[in-house]
Amino acid sequence: MALLALAACGCASGPPAWHAEREDLLGLYADPSRCRPALVVDIDDTLVDGGAWSSLRLACGLAPARMAPFAGAPEALRALAERWDLVLLTARDDSFAGRTVGWLAANGFPPMPVVFSRRLLFTERARAELKSAAIRALRDRGLRIERGIGDKPGDVLAYGENGLESFLIADGPGDPDLAATFESLGIRCLEPSALAAAGLGAAFLSRERCWPEIAKRLVRDRLVRGRAGTRRGPPSPPGSARAPARG
Ligand SMILES: [Mg+2]
Repeated sequence: MALLALAACGCASGPPAWHAEREDLLGLYADPSRCRPALVVDIDDTLVDGGAWSSLRLACGLAPARMAPFAGAPEALRALAERWDLVLLTARDDSFAGRTVGWLAANGFPPMPVVFSRRLLFTERARAELKSAAIRALRDRGLRIERGIGDKPGDVLAYGENGLESFLIADGPGDPDLAATFESLGIRCLEPSALAAAGLGAAFLSRERCWPEIAKRLVRDRLVRGRAGTRRGPPSPPGSARAPARG
């Protein structure tokens, strides 16, 4: 019966609902006087291993705070938080909200809002729908979300539906999610021009080594745009066309 209840919950009709921890930070991000872009970041297999053993530990509460994040991820997000508004966007069920927020704090991540699903989601399509709907809603609130970082084809789909540039993190060149994402986008090689043509800013082939490079690229992006803004005058008013994302 429990499995039937879980399945019914996961197959509920309508767009997946979500809720956010740290709504106060979302309110701060939406302040129209705050001229900062926002970045959405996935959690499982992006910041920490989301494999079966990790999921079991999280579900059973087996010392989840001691699950190590990928190397450099907390430091990278702390550096990015200086120049980007960060939102963690996960398809985890919100029954894991307390453990997730506790894990983030215990492992040195900066304070960030975390968006969870309000129900269990069993398919990649449902997880993509949740993330796409949440990005739309956050933008309607006033967040200037420009980029997304994740590991699944559904992440890239959700980001692309909203015009975000994606950074894809793969578990090595043989990661099936990498092949599936490339197939869905029609990408045949790792050439930057091929990625950019498909809306993919970058693909990283090591979860354990990517975060310092991601931080460097995105901090540099903000510095370059800051200098350009200084030369060109004040930023465009709300509602005007957004500058194309850079690679
Ligand atoms: Mg993931």
